[in-house]
Amino acid sequence: MSKTKYVFITGGVLSGLGKGIITASTGLLIKSMGYSVTAIKIDPYVNVDAGTMNPFMHGEVFVTEDGGETDLDLGHYERFLGINLSKENNITTGQVYLSVITKERRGEYLGKCVQIIPHVTDEIKNRIRGIARKSGADVVLVEIGGTVGDIESLPFLEAIRQMRIEEGRENTISIHVALAPILSVTGEQKTKPVQHSIQELRRIGIMPDIVVVRSQRDLEPEARQKIALYSNLPIDAVFGDPDVETIYEVPLLLHSKGYTRYIARLLGLEYREPDISRWEDFVNRIKNARRKIRIAMIGKYTKLHDSYISIIEALRHAGAWNNIGIELKWYESTDIEKGKIDTERIIEETDAAVILPGFGKRGAEGKISAIKALRENNKPVLGICFGMQLMVIEIFRHVIGWEKANSTELDPSTPYPVVDLLPSQYNVKHLGGSMRLGAHPIRIVKGTIAYEMYKKEIVYERHRHRYEVNPKFLDKLESAGIRVSGWSVEGYPEFIEMDNYKTLFFGSQPHPEFRSRPLNPSPIYNYFIKTIKEVNT
Ligand code: GLN
Repeated sequence: MSKTKYVFITGGVLSGLGKGIITASTGLLIKSMGYSVTAIKIDPYVNVDAGTMNPFMHGEVFVTEDGGETDLDLGHYERFLGINLSKENNITTGQVYLSVITKERRGEYLGKCVQIIPHVTDEIKNRIRGIARKSGADVVLVEIGGTVGDIESLPFLEAIRQMRIEEGRENTISIHVALAPILSVTGEQKTKPVQHSIQELRRIGIMPDIVVVRSQRDLEPEARQKIALYSNLPIDAVFGDPDVETIYEVPLLLHSKGYTRYIARLLGLEYREPDISRWEDFVNRIKNARRKIRIAMIGKYTKLHDSYISIIEALRHAGAWNNIGIELKWYESTDIEKGKIDTERIIEETDAAVILPGFGKRGAEGKISAIKALRENNKPVLGICFGMQLMVIEIFRHVIGWEKANSTELDPSTPYPVVDLLPSQYNVKHLGGSMRLGAHPIRIVKGTIAYEMYKKEIVYERHRHRYEVNPKFLDKLESAGIRVSGWSVEGYPEFIEMDNYKTLFFGSQPHPEFRSRPLNPSPIYNYFIKTIKEVNT
């Protein structure tokens, strides 16, 4: 195909409408027609990346193969599109300004007055086109975070307005996603907020070609008509997108409404019936699972489930693969610590537990008490990153008897630093982007559970940490029945597992959830779910 096609996705009315899912779904449908696709997320905040933000701000920090700490929407893109993206696929205001200002200091704009238009907008367009070129994709999706009308997103919208002219109208489309709320008193579907956000977009100079309207129930014909009229669009360009049982249904729903064909026509792409049968099968497995297993999710950001979105999705992928429903039960580790949640209750209410990743002291002791109770009751336990580190601390404290065993992250003066800073971190001064990040090779020990999971000797998983199980104390750990079943090249434990445990007691230093895909679940999550299913039959 000669010229790259661009699909720009903007949002209106409010954030959190699932624009990322719509972008990912659009990509999946285009890809399923046989075209290559990549996706970019633009985040208008001034942080250079999401790595320095608390998960309560923006949910999970998604880690890419190349070690980018990115917005969680990249996770949706990777899962729906089945491809790996680079950290460059997440553009932020911070990155754009950092590079413009660095260039200015180097004298690259010598003699000029550096301005938002054209210098900042040029930088934005160069980045988008750079990714298009590098990926070689037929179609590039660009989602602009936030809501139209925000001050922060203006330079990005302006860049898109310019790109639409420069690339040609036939090579670009604009999809606007907005909300039609339903008034609880009258049950009426209201379109005014959608109309207003389209007006706002037009004021900036962007005419949407398609409007996707989120609502609790499907768009009523009159509402659809009204939106079309006010948007200056044919009615076929307005698509209702009601709430569905699982996010994976969204592409199927949009496709059933003629969305794929409509987009192909606008972009001048030859329409080919998309091959989505495996996806449909996956969605049916999720929806039709008769039996459910209950999984305790133990962490300190449980009030915002998006903080753990990739883990939730990895569990669902593995659930679908094993034809079993997944019911998640959330336990705030700070509440366990304070005695507000009894660990007995977790044992009674759930079949297994994931000890969630995290940083810092708050809630850590709560997780350790939960691990103890789970272990003593032979429940399947999967610890991810910080979760694995706390499993090791728990064993040292309660099986080996070193009561003061700890991580130096939590107690810098512990006499038993069983989890300690990675040597590569000793001289780290800046906290942004400086953890051990991204995919690294792991050597799997044959004859272990880890080997049973992967059936391979070298595997790659993505990392995001500064601390590691201290290799100094591994002999001791082994005497307690815990062995290392995966090693990093530098000789650090990547996977640990307990021998002679009735179910599964497994810790993973990397985050295998980042590589889990609907049609290709993570081997670790898959084995975890399979074990729970077997234990409960
Ligand atoms: N805080 C731990 C570390 O830095 C674990 C990090 C994590 O769970 N992602 O090593």
